[in-house]
Amino acid sequence: MAFEKIKVASPIVEMDGDEMTRIFWQSIKEKLIFPFLELDIKYFDLGLPHRDATDDKVTVESAEAALKYNVAIKCATITPDEARVKEFNLKQMWKSPNGTIRNILNGTVFREPIICKNIPRLVPGWTKPICIGRHAFGDQYRATDAVIKGPGKLKLVFVPEGQDEKTELEVYNFTGAGGVALSMYNTDESIRAFGDASMNTAYQKKWPLYLSTKKILFLRSMMEGLKTSFKKSTRPTGNQSLRLQEYGMNTDSSMIWLLMLLRVKESDFLAQGFGSLGLMTSVLVCPDGKTIEAEAAHGTVTRHYRVHQKGGETSTNSIASIFAWSRGLAHRAKLDDNAKLLDFTEKLEAACVGAVESGKMTKDLALLIHGSKVSREHYLNTEEFIDAVAEELKSQTFYLGMSDLAGKVSSEGNKGEEKMVDVDE
Ligand code: NAP
Ligand code: MG
Repeated sequence: MAFEKIKVASPIVEMDGDEMTRIFWQSIKEKLIFPFLELDIKYFDLGLPHRDATDDKVTVESAEAALKYNVAIKCATITPDEARVKEFNLKQMWKSPNGTIRNILNGTVFREPIICKNIPRLVPGWTKPICIGRHAFGDQYRATDAVIKGPGKLKLVFVPEGQDEKTELEVYNFTGAGGVALSMYNTDESIRAFGDASMNTAYQKKWPLYLSTKKILFLRSMMEGLKTSFKKSTRPTGNQSLRLQEYGMNTDSSMIWLLMLLRVKESDFLAQGFGSLGLMTSVLVCPDGKTIEAEAAHGTVTRHYRVHQKGGETSTNSIASIFAWSRGLAHRAKLDDNAKLLDFTEKLEAACVGAVESGKMTKDLALLIHGSKVSREHYLNTEEFIDAVAEELKSQTFYLGMSDLAGKVSSEGNKGEEKMVDVDE
């Protein structure tokens, strides 16, 4: 039975990346995507050499294409620091591509772990994913701080545009040796965009949505935004973050948990609690819920890449990157109402989890099971794992094809073999 490729009518934007992830990104496409899908890809090379060659214009263009086509699938990329500027002989220290894309898409990042039954979690009760949404604008990212030397008044001054009359708030009257001060801000637009993206994600996933914040002002602004956007009665329940932490620890159901800034703690904690970074997905969602960019939460896994460069064997987990494809394509399927594509993305995800649950996994996961007793027979190398997923995927598409077939045959009163051959895979 020849497998007919699934047609994907609208394009997707692919953002290629760096180092180890760039290496297996290629294999994911060749072994898990191209054999199954007829796909129109708008390709952008966000690998650091090409970002440098284009003065980082390629990053901006890729984000604009994401807005145009609504679905972007991104490989991990290097955010240059001084060492990278030297290593790649860069024209300048280009900004984080993720930051650039996030600003252009005005999106909110939702991180979600991939659950495999046999991979131990810090909290064993976490049998369903907890999805973390984080507002990442203003606040401590753009804070202004100062060291106060000696006594004096610290004030917050706002000067309205085009007016002379300013508002002055006295923050503190320092009388002793001084101290420190910090000022932070956020904007209604950004807070509302966060609320909208969160609400859209909750509607799409059909999961409950919880919010941790101590900042009632923030909450009010967000709720006002939600009421205008959704014309539904949304009811703030006030500050329940302590109870929510308790709930988060004890829950065994899926949920979306929104974190305000200064609550990064919970986000990192959840990443560790669910196991490896190789099992953490990340989706950037635009306020309208229509445009998304999907990627792995981890980086380019430089340490493994150095081993690979020297010709050594690597065992790098590609699952979160495969899920970048499945989540991006699932969004494409929903926008286009493409049931076959949606079904494929579910099978692709099931193939990853299925491989791990049948004992085929990379070293990071084997370590979680076997600890210091881990040995070479417990894990596959980078390429072997992708092959294992491909095998699993083929057997799944075949198996599901067969069961569809069985259903069809029995409902038609078992008309025999001739009929079975007619059923097109
Ligand atoms: P990283 O690439 O996430 O890797 C850190 C460590 O975590 C690895 O050395 C490895 O641990 C483990 N790890 C991460 N992903 C793994 C996977 N898929 N399979 C197995 N193990 C995995 O972080 P980094 O080394 O700090 O950063 C490397 C580069 O990535 C940097 O240039 C940074 O700018 C970039 N980065 C990009 C993004 C992004 O594009 N979204 C995010 C973060 C970082 P062991 O060494 O113990 O095996
Ligand atoms: Mg990433």
